[in-house]
Amino acid sequence: MNFAWSPEQEQIRAAIERVCEPFDADYWLRKDRDGGFPEDFHRALAASGWLGIAMPEAYGGAGLGISEAALMMHTIAATGAGLSGASTVHMNIFGLHPVVVFGSDEQKKRWLPPLIAGRDRACFAVTEPDAGLNTLKLKTRAVRDGDHYTVSGQKVWISTAQVATKMLLLARTTPVERASGTDGLSLFYTDFDRRAIEAREIDKMGRKAVDSNQVFIDGLRVPVEDRIGDEGRGFSYILHGLNPERILVAAEAVGLGRAALQRAAAYASEREVFGRPIGQNQAIQHPLAASWMELEAAHLMAQKAAWLYDQGQPCAAEANSAKYLAAEACYRACENAILTHGGMGYAREYHVERYLREAWIPRLAPVSPQLILCFIAEKVLGLPKSY
Ligand SMILES: Cc1cc2nc3c(=O)[nH]c(=O)nc-3n(C[C@H](O)[C@H](O)[C@H](O)COP(=O)(O)OP(=O)(O)OC[C@H]3O[C@@H](n4cnc5c(N)ncnc54)[C@H](O)[C@@H]3O)c2cc1C
Repeated sequence: MNFAWSPEQEQIRAAIERVCEPFDADYWLRKDRDGGFPEDFHRALAASGWLGIAMPEAYGGAGLGISEAALMMHTIAATGAGLSGASTVHMNIFGLHPVVVFGSDEQKKRWLPPLIAGRDRACFAVTEPDAGLNTLKLKTRAVRDGDHYTVSGQKVWISTAQVATKMLLLARTTPVERASGTDGLSLFYTDFDRRAIEAREIDKMGRKAVDSNQVFIDGLRVPVEDRIGDEGRGFSYILHGLNPERILVAAEAVGLGRAALQRAAAYASEREVFGRPIGQNQAIQHPLAASWMELEAAHLMAQKAAWLYDQGQPCAAEANSAKYLAAEACYRACENAILTHGGMGYAREYHVERYLREAWIPRLAPVSPQLILCFIAEKVLGLPKSY
């Protein structure tokens, strides 16, 4: 067993830190206040080829594994870019995984190079208002008509839909009453054609720079060649990308938690009250030390899950556990960072209140902590399915 980073992984970390350096805490603070997609940050990562880290070399990617992609996303968040920085590119890193695995050679040639170069920007359109976590109940319909499908329906919480040029879309091709098992949904990667799609931004708690939206689709024409794999098998294709996504979210959450912890430790050393640094008090030290341990443990779980995935081994329990543990550890670290700052923790200029608002995202999405606990209870402990 070897827990050390390889020299190549160390280089990735150092290189990502260099790209992130000009985008300091004040940059992300401004983005959080004013909004506006972080175009320059996205461009900087695309220009140095990072958007293709986990894409096949044959299509212009670096051909590395989810371990390296997770390291990249962790590093972005840990520099203080947090979830705002990570979400700017998150979809591009993992999102087209179903295309990589199930797409045809022609589709990969058509879709992957522009995404890696940053010319295309993709959003991930799965969640619907009426279905929630029960993805098999999606209602958005894709009706075949000769060489194309006509799509109509509604999605919710779709991140980056304000700036996306492409959309990975899960839609129903067989009415729910006729669909059996997990069949009946199909997966498409198609143009985000604003003549047939309206994206309405949701006013939300944090991560203002990276928009999330209600999406209304009305008569969108999707060519048959934009369907990935077989009709009706979309759910199983999406499932294939879920574990890598959970691993990336876990890595991002650990990064955000570490950014908060670093600020808290620095403040605790500097701030003097009662004639000594507040960090000399165990009441301040202990929560921060506990957060360090929790983040470290969550990161190890994420690294194990990534390693399993890269070895082609099952990793659903580990990937889900990593996402759960990392999100909870991140949240507590951000909370402890605010408490360490006292009143100043509530002031935007100290950054930690922004981190806490962002820490909600990996807790809530892409799957809730409750559903992860249900999954572990059922699949690992053999208890009856509860949902
Ligand atoms: C900032 C943000 C960005 C997002 N970006 C995207 C995106 O880009 N694309 C996309 O498709 N989606 C996106 N989402 C959506 C996200 O994946 C969903 O919000 C999430 O999957 C939860 O679904 P829901 O909100 O419908 O919750 P619901 O399904 O309504 O669940 C509500 C609550 O009930 C609980 N619950 C429900 N059923 C059970 C049960 N049987 N047992 C125990 N508990 C249960 C859940 O755990 C949850 O706590 C985003 C969400 C957020 C907040």
